[in-house]
Amino acid sequence: MSKDDLPLKLDRIESYHAHVYFDGSEQRETAELLREEIAERFSVLLGRWHDRPVGPHALAMYQVAFLPVEFPRLVPWLMVNRRGLTILIHPNTGEPKSDHLERALWLGAVLEIDTAPLSDHEDSEVEIVPNTRPTVSP
Ligand code: ZN
Repeated sequence: MSKDDLPLKLDRIESYHAHVYFDGSEQRETAELLREEIAERFSVLLGRWHDRPVGPHALAMYQVAFLPVEFPRLVPWLMVNRRGLTILIHPNTGEPKSDHLERALWLGAVLEIDTAPLSDHEDSEVEIVPNTRPTVSP
């Protein structure tokens, strides 16, 4: 798909990722707290910790995957509770390169994205099955 195919239909967005970045032990502790708070409040799939940069990401981080229905609750909550952490939010439309570069939303600083591991021709299905049971209303 090229830019000529815009506008993209909303139903192309299968899910979203929020990548919560941290740099150093103090920010890691903050990221731990945020992770617990997210798990208590939202239907999300929490990815494992990456204490070193992986894939296109410039800093250590973990990923939070969620369905579009959770976007209007989770994203505003992150806006007001991120405690200085940088968070990248991007849609998953099956075109990882465009999703990370052109369609991304940043909370806090804009970090570099390494384009080498990204392409727009990944056809792997993104299936999100939230595995947490929120217990606290946000
Ligand atoms: Zn992602």
